[in-house]
Amino acid sequence: MSTTPIYERALVWMRRDLRLKDQRALFEATHQSSKVLPVFVIDSNIVDKLSKTDRRVTFIQKSLDEVAEGLDKKGSRLLVVYGDPAEKIPELAKKLKVQAVFTSNDFEAYAKKRDEGVAKRLKSEGVAFHSFKDQVIFEGTEILNGSGEPYRVFTPYSNNWLKQFESAKAKHLRDYQPKMGSLWDASEIREKSTSFWEHGFKEQDIVIPTGSKAAEKLLKDFADHISRYQEARDFPAIGGTSRLSMHIRFGTISIRECLRFADEHLSAGTRVWIKELIWREFYQMILFNFPHVEKGSFKRECDQIKWPGKKEHFEAWVEGKTGFPIIDAAMREFKQTGWMHNRLRMVVAMFLTKDLLLDWRMGEKYFADNLLDFDLASNNGGWQWSASTGCDAQPYFRVMNPYSQSERFDFDGEYIRKWVPELSKLKGKAIHHPLPFEYMEPIVDHSEQRLIAIDLFKKLK
Ligand SMILES: Cc1cc2nc3c(=O)[nH]c(=O)nc-3n(C[C@H](O)[C@H](O)[C@H](O)COP(=O)(O)OP(=O)(O)OC[C@H]3O[C@@H](n4cnc5c(N)ncnc54)[C@H](O)[C@@H]3O)c2cc1C
Repeated sequence: MSTTPIYERALVWMRRDLRLKDQRALFEATHQSSKVLPVFVIDSNIVDKLSKTDRRVTFIQKSLDEVAEGLDKKGSRLLVVYGDPAEKIPELAKKLKVQAVFTSNDFEAYAKKRDEGVAKRLKSEGVAFHSFKDQVIFEGTEILNGSGEPYRVFTPYSNNWLKQFESAKAKHLRDYQPKMGSLWDASEIREKSTSFWEHGFKEQDIVIPTGSKAAEKLLKDFADHISRYQEARDFPAIGGTSRLSMHIRFGTISIRECLRFADEHLSAGTRVWIKELIWREFYQMILFNFPHVEKGSFKRECDQIKWPGKKEHFEAWVEGKTGFPIIDAAMREFKQTGWMHNRLRMVVAMFLTKDLLLDWRMGEKYFADNLLDFDLASNNGGWQWSASTGCDAQPYFRVMNPYSQSERFDFDGEYIRKWVPELSKLKGKAIHHPLPFEYMEPIVDHSEQRLIAIDLFKKLK
């Protein structure tokens, strides 16, 4: 890389990369410019629709505070503004007389449109817009099948992903350390920063610790049990997973750092964990190449399905009052915390679609509004997989039985006891199948509903 900076002044627009270490846009900007100012826009198009008690806002604000503190220590600062980024970024570029704006790629439909608009406006004012891959190892069309087409099923995609990753591992695991000496001196910036709190948001308790330091600690602690990940990851009562999804989502940790860590702690468990990180990239690739999934079924014929479920059953599902202990425990934890274990996400999603016979989009939206780690691609992929409308290699007649899932993955009922306290006195297996006088009656009959669900798919043309 050239040592002579190309630009005198530049902005780094942070979005899904809320950290200072191994940060691609900051790396590129600080190596190509003499003075770099990191900026975060509280996007009015997004946040004005959120509840003032949205837990994710607390995570973002606190993570931004940590970024600001880090920049402050280097004599620079983080500028936080509120408004429509399509106006705010060009406006700031003009005021601060920058020649370039650096950022990281984001391929969600809204983000793509937003970035195209910003790039166009900047260009008309003679300001360059540079966007880089940061949040995944492989994006868009980088992993294609032998015919040059995007994959539609996971396993061959994953095999090819691993092959390409291994063939240039050092390149893919590169640590993009910014040149801190190129940060813009805080004393030269007059602009005032705002915060989510100034826009009426209220700080919430969240079960995931915030900021990059916390993410690094989670990763470090995970070293103690990653080798047992493949055995422990399916049991909600055990902390067998990394709990890093929210950090990966908001970029308080880099995906390369996660994979460097995996590479240094190789074991059977680590290989399974890497597969999970590949699932995330798989779903991002699906959203990029098959954008219709955002609104419709991946398997288009599934849009013919008229889901016959009852609206009141959706309310029972949301409230954790279905009469199925494992479903109720998962939904109550989710309502109280915004967190749900992966196994339970699959179980409750399949229950909503195959037992309550409700449209997957209803559950997808409820998750999108409330999941701490909500990510459009992963959430949509997870829901469509569970509803059998998506990229699942298994046929539609796979329907998870909530009772056997409960017996298998919460065998001693520890998880259910915690979240459904009215069942805590039941001993042994009884907790999975309480009698009507011990708990509320199940709102549906699993064996009957399962057959109706299978029939909905059989009829498809
Ligand atoms: C219906 C449904 C909805 C989901 N919605 C989301 C979502 O909005 N955001 C989200 O990050 N994950 C989502 N997932 C995937 C998964 O449940 C979470 O990533 C996982 O529970 C997070 O816990 P962890 O960080 O401890 O994961 P770990 O088991 O430690 O896995 C490591 C990382 O791999 C990624 N990952 C793991 N499993 C998956 C998966 N199946 N699909 C995609 N990425 C995965 C996550 O980034 C995760 O942090 C969803 C799954 C289902 C079935």
